[in-house]
Amino acid sequence: MAADIIDGKAFAAALREKVGEAARAFGDKAGRKAGLAVVLVGDDPASQVYVGSKGKATVAAGMASFEHRLPEATSQQELEALVRQLNADPAVDGILVQLPLPEHLDDKAVIALIDPDKDVDGLTDTNIARLANQQDGLFPCTPVGCMMLLADRLGDLSGRNAVVIGRSQLVGRPMAQLLVNANATVTIAHSRTRDLPQVVRGADIVIAAVGRPEMVRGDWIAPGATVIDVGINRLDPEPGASKGRLVGDVAFDEAREVAGAITPVPGGVGPMTIAVLLRNALVAAYRHEGLPPPK
Ligand code: NDP
Repeated sequence: MAADIIDGKAFAAALREKVGEAARAFGDKAGRKAGLAVVLVGDDPASQVYVGSKGKATVAAGMASFEHRLPEATSQQELEALVRQLNADPAVDGILVQLPLPEHLDDKAVIALIDPDKDVDGLTDTNIARLANQQDGLFPCTPVGCMMLLADRLGDLSGRNAVVIGRSQLVGRPMAQLLVNANATVTIAHSRTRDLPQVVRGADIVIAAVGRPEMVRGDWIAPGATVIDVGINRLDPEPGASKGRLVGDVAFDEAREVAGAITPVPGGVGPMTIAVLLRNALVAAYRHEGLPPPK
């Protein structure tokens, strides 16, 4: 029987709706809108698109969006001065610096400057430690979105065997930590892992966050497993087409024959990322005002 398709698009739309309601309630209580600042340096076309859609989604959720588009030639000092200004600005609850930064800039130094309570991407050392220590904080949007999809599908994750393929700061590591915090038994696989297919075969939950088109094959998947495909890869265009197809890190058609449930690409994890970003910004706003954040 073919796997159920996990509809991340619909889940994300419902989450955005909930965030919108909570944003209105915040406005009534705080007398101002929650505010998210997004900083983009340079003119990378993909980053321009991401920043544009984050801004639109922020406004659509009833929050204030502050976009700072800086020229490619921006210096480290200028960028750091902007982050300091946003840290001090009472109208700004969340700060996101769009990565990657141009090569001449030191992204680690910039991230380290962000007030951890405004760090909606969850990349500061403070939030990494809070995640490891199971304290309240702000955690990376994509893994949090994956956890929401898993909880919706599977309920309690206690004792489940999860394999996370990928160990980046943005996705793989926080994903593994969130799973362990939810009492799953977690294996982190990466480019040095031996016999990856066999490792994946032992998993009830497979999270693929690799960046390699359709690397995870159907015969790696245990029957009935839940497969969360984080990868977004654009294939070369077919002859005559202007753009190539988007595919995940999992060979969807094969895996679908074996898995119990699977996220599609597009329409799976991708839409969750922005929805969680809005949620993180709103949670930061509630905390900023000393109010209990919405569930
Ligand atoms: P990174 O390139 O930072 O990390 C990739 C990870 O995959 C690394 O840990 C690497 O291992 C591992 N890896 C690479 N090749 C192999 C291999 N052959 N076998 C096993 N592991 C391997 O990527 P990100 O974590 O930032 O992103 C991963 C994917 O998720 C990308 O496709 C990206 O576009 C997508 N993405 C999607 C988002 C969404 O909203 N849906 C958000 C963020 C990312 P090692 O550490 O050993 O090098």
